[in-house]
Amino acid sequence: MATAHDHLLHEGDSLADAAQRTFERAGEQWTPMRAEIFAALSAATKPASAYDLADAVSKSTGRRVAANSVYRILDVFVGANLARRVESANAYIVNAHPDCEHDCIFLVCDICGRVSHVDDDRLAGSVRASAEKAGFSNLRPVIEVRGCCADCAEGDSA
Ligand SMILES: [Zn+2]
Ligand SMILES: [Zn+2]
Repeated sequence: MATAHDHLLHEGDSLADAAQRTFERAGEQWTPMRAEIFAALSAATKPASAYDLADAVSKSTGRRVAANSVYRILDVFVGANLARRVESANAYIVNAHPDCEHDCIFLVCDICGRVSHVDDDRLAGSVRASAEKAGFSNLRPVIEVRGCCADCAEGDSA
């Protein structure tokens, strides 16, 4: 786990490039189907389910894609650090920093459903340390904060 927080957050083409690099370094093939699914996942403004992505890719490619195949690809993405599962939303988002490992802290808006994220390796590190002390191994911290995002809070007061 990285401790420094000097990583770049990628967007658009730069994100796709970084993702492809990370993916190929992990020994995975960046196939046209995987590229399509990654593009659909990056374009989503909210966490997307395998069904959402299957729909989006079926539309963009004009050929029906089964949610099951999307699931398998999402699994590979998560394993290769290209995507993250937002547990409380039961859906996936792209990892904006595929080239470095963090236990991202997701901020999930109850109103619009959008997810943003912050990294606090000190906090995540102490969650890991406490779990280890309790005899837990194979740690996969899930740190999610539900609430109201700044945009929705603004809309409220207007
Ligand atoms: Zn992060
Ligand atoms: Zn919101």
